Amino acid sequence: MNEMSLDDITGEVNAWLDENWDPNLSLEDWRRILVDGGWATPHWPSQFFGRDFTLEQSAVVARIFNERGVVPVAQTGPRRLAAETILAMGNDDQKSRYLRPILTGEHSWCQLFSEPGSGSDLAGLSTKAQLVDGRWIINGQKVWNTSAHHADYGILVARTDWDVPKHQGISFFLIHMHQPGVEVRPLKQMNGHASFNEVFMTDAVVAAEDLVGGEGNGWAVAKTTLSYERRLGGVGRSFGGVQGDWRGRVYQEYEKELTIANEPYTWYPQRQGRVDLVLPRARETGAIQDPATRQEIARLICMQKGASLASAAAEAKRKSGSNELVPAGSIGKLAASVIARQAAHVHTLISSADAMRSGPDSAENGLVAEVLISVPAISIAGGTDEIQRNIISERVLTMPKEMRADTGPFRDIKRNE
Ligand SMILES: Cc1cc2nc3c(=O)[nH]c(=O)nc-3n(C[C@H](O)[C@H](O)[C@H](O)COP(=O)(O)OP(=O)(O)OC[C@H]3O[C@@H](n4cnc5c(N)ncnc54)[C@H](O)[C@@H]3O)c2cc1C
Repeated sequence: MNEMSLDDITGEVNAWLDENWDPNLSLEDWRRILVDGGWATPHWPSQFFGRDFTLEQSAVVARIFNERGVVPVAQTGPRRLAAETILAMGNDDQKSRYLRPILTGEHSWCQLFSEPGSGSDLAGLSTKAQLVDGRWIINGQKVWNTSAHHADYGILVARTDWDVPKHQGISFFLIHMHQPGVEVRPLKQMNGHASFNEVFMTDAVVAAEDLVGGEGNGWAVAKTTLSYERRLGGVGRSFGGVQGDWRGRVYQEYEKELTIANEPYTWYPQRQGRVDLVLPRARETGAIQDPATRQEIARLICMQKGASLASAAAEAKRKSGSNELVPAGSIGKLAASVIARQAAHVHTLISSADAMRSGPDSAENGLVAEVLISVPAISIAGGTDEIQRNIISERVLTMPKEMRADTGPFRDIKRNE
């Protein structure tokens, strides 16, 4: 831990920025200076681009950057999951090779976890990794891989041992995406967007030194990624640019980076039901006059308010040092699904058949139609509603656990091929 006082940090950051911050630099040049200066990720260890700051100390740095319109390091999409996982579980060589270009934005990353036959049951994955002549040869298919079509690297879980129970036979790799054995195919969704990909690996190669955490220890490494993902509230978070009317080359290049990185998430507000549109549309269309519709709107708003209060209470608990994170996360995730579904129901009451139309004359220029076909995604992504209910019943209500038929060597477990 770094002992600097908050006042000293304020003085030092401002002096460093006076000396180094220049909005006319290229984005890459600026970020190299920022990373080498140790102010990019001050909560990271000093050995790896940080200053051993606490979250409170780091918040001071973030506030000053914000006030002065300073462009931060690259932090969009799955690259943050990769960075935090490598930082927590990688060896020094992996940290030295991979962290810097993630922070500067030179390398983008994707997450290669889900498979057609293993989503809820991620540990049932069957992508195969075999050590041949000192290199790992990978064969299998991944799916739902956000941003894989422009990723340089992927964090990958694959099975290295089929003769031990399923969690014990998994290993975690860093794979280069631009190689002949890796084929990325974009998936077109029913709402017209294409945020995800399928990734096919056929004799793809991973160098021996890009195995993270040791052979057979991949489940522990993957859990680190998943816990970080939960803390972030999902990879599916878009980033706004720097606030304020700032000018210079670095801003133009940063905006361009954000436009590309945020593209897969443009429909994410719609999948949450767009509760913000409900009251204005009910007034505009006159639907607010109908008592049955009003009742459903009131129900929706109460549910939303209740969920946001519950989430604030969970956050306060977290800040006070409690580790009741998983139940709070699962309850919040389930609440978001229920609210989104109720919002879709209310939108149809307000707009009736018009809710299904897209195009210039439709409800909110097609946004309401997009809500209706995007809402089902929230009940699946990041763990389905049923899985959240299982977690709540087993871990919060301490009800009996589900019967399991998947113990013993993975090779003998019945599964869809
Ligand atoms: C919009 C979206 C974004 C996504 N983003 C990502 C991503 O970025 N990265 C990634 O790796 N994956 C991603 N996914 C994949 C997602 O994690 C999986 O789709 C999800 O975990 C469900 O897995 P599955 O599709 O294989 O369904 P299955 O696991 O096959 O489930 C099928 C049905 O069976 C039910 N079910 C399964 N097991 C149980 C059980 N034990 N008890 C009761 N019911 C059960 C499920 O609830 C579901 O209704 C995304 C999915 C969506 C829709």
